[in-house]
Amino acid sequence: METIIIDGKKISQDIKDELAVKVADYKKKGVEITLAVIQVGDDPASSVYVRNKKRACEYIGINSKSYELPTETTEEELLQLIDNLNNDDSINGILVQLPVPDHIDEKKITNAISPLKDVDGFHPYNVGCLSIGDKGYISCTPAGIIELMKRNNIEIDGKNCVIIGRSNIVGKPMCALMLRENATVTVAHSHTQDLKDLCKTADILIVAIGKNNFVTSEYVKEGAVVIDVGIHRDENNKLSGDVLYDDVKPHCSAITPVPGGVGPMTIAMLMNNCVESVNILNK
Ligand code: NAD
Repeated sequence: METIIIDGKKISQDIKDELAVKVADYKKKGVEITLAVIQVGDDPASSVYVRNKKRACEYIGINSKSYELPTETTEEELLQLIDNLNNDDSINGILVQLPVPDHIDEKKITNAISPLKDVDGFHPYNVGCLSIGDKGYISCTPAGIIELMKRNNIEIDGKNCVIIGRSNIVGKPMCALMLRENATVTVAHSHTQDLKDLCKTADILIVAIGKNNFVTSEYVKEGAVVIDVGIHRDENNKLSGDVLYDDVKPHCSAITPVPGGVGPMTIAMLMNNCVESVNILNK
């Protein structure tokens, strides 16, 4: 069986190119899109993510406004900045790079962003919209996974899907999205019994556990589609996922590699949300 290697690098590039055309059209009509990117502190990993997001904005033609705040920034100061940006008509989207320092309540920050500018899709309003099938911003990584499958003509309707992991940013929104695509969905987590047997029932297995090389071929039904969300970096900077790729790949009809699978899709879908903001804000 020939295994399809799902090429997230190419698909994310295609999406960014499609978005660049849309943004250019908006510009012709006098519509500018601006993303406010807030980083508190100088965590090196966060700085890399922020830089990549700003680069993607530039590529697509979206304006990005940077707010690099010192670690000592108080919760009140951050909430005040968010309030100002919520009320600023020139701002389409607001992104606070997580994690924030410990003295700031992450939940308070997420909830303070206007749902109409919540391009990460983390606000409870948007989470609710997703779960009842209303329009709103969708969490970027799960949205990217749907896009990877659709653009590889992978049938989702009627399939058995097992998602390992129930986090608010991956597992739970992934479940809502797969339901919306008419899959039959099971969400497994750290208390799940007989995980291997359960995973063996999956036509589509989505793995977001955060444990390096956890899923082996013993978890995979012959011919299944395997999506690996995990990202791990070893001491030599080499990336790997939650799936033991070389062991699992021969048993799959399609699989995402790490790197170059799900990873690049998150920023592409963030850019998609920024472009969507024009409709959501009715600009
Ligand atoms: P998390 O730690 O918040 O959640 C992990 C989930 O896995 C939990 O729900 C837990 O119940 C479950 N789990 C842990 N051990 C388990 C076990 N032994 N058996 C069954 N379930 C188990 O993680 P997260 O934020 O969802 O991220 C998961 C992985 O995806 C991480 O490696 C993270 O780096 C990566 N990630 C990648 C992207 C991307 O852009 N590609 C985005 C977000 C997260």
